[in-house]
Amino acid sequence: MASIFSKIIAGEIPGFKVYEDKKVVAILDINPVNAGHVLVIPREEYVTLMDMPDKLAEHTITVVKHLASELKRITGSSGINVFLNNGASAGQEVPHVHFHIIPRFDGDDAVPAWKRKQASPEDLQELSKLLVKSLKPKKKPKKPTKKKPTKVKVSKKFKN
Ligand code: AMP
Repeated sequence: MASIFSKIIAGEIPGFKVYEDKKVVAILDINPVNAGHVLVIPREEYVTLMDMPDKLAEHTITVVKHLASELKRITGSSGINVFLNNGASAGQEVPHVHFHIIPRFDGDDAVPAWKRKQASPEDLQELSKLLVKSLKPKKKPKKPTKKKPTKVKVSKKFKN
């Protein structure tokens, strides 16, 4: 079934488009965090960034960069948040990948601060050693592959 964003893009339900090209559309968020809160959405439906073909991801991020810069200029904001929620556990409600661009103003308190954990240098070193073994530069763009999740329980390493 088409996502709510696909329906807006197709003009089947109302939405406020602010930018479009062959590959992506940007709309105003219906419940903005601040005025000028925009969602940048690829026309083709993918659930998360990791599902997207590299070329489309590159184009989408280029548009996000351009619109973030333009929205900062137009709204006169002093900062901009760019968020991307991938998966329900990361706060994703609409399962069609979309970047949030949110103009921010000094002291607006619009986005709650992240709840941080404490990590010892030893924990960080152990984790970095584990990760560096698995993280290699990508050789050339290719279609996304379904890799098995690693067994490293990252969240268990740090305590609140
Ligand atoms: P996320 O939690 O990252 O999936 O964000 C979904 C976003 O979509 C929320 O900020 C919603 O306010 C926004 N949203 C949901 N329905 C619509 C709609 N019909 N038009 C515009 N924005 C929407």
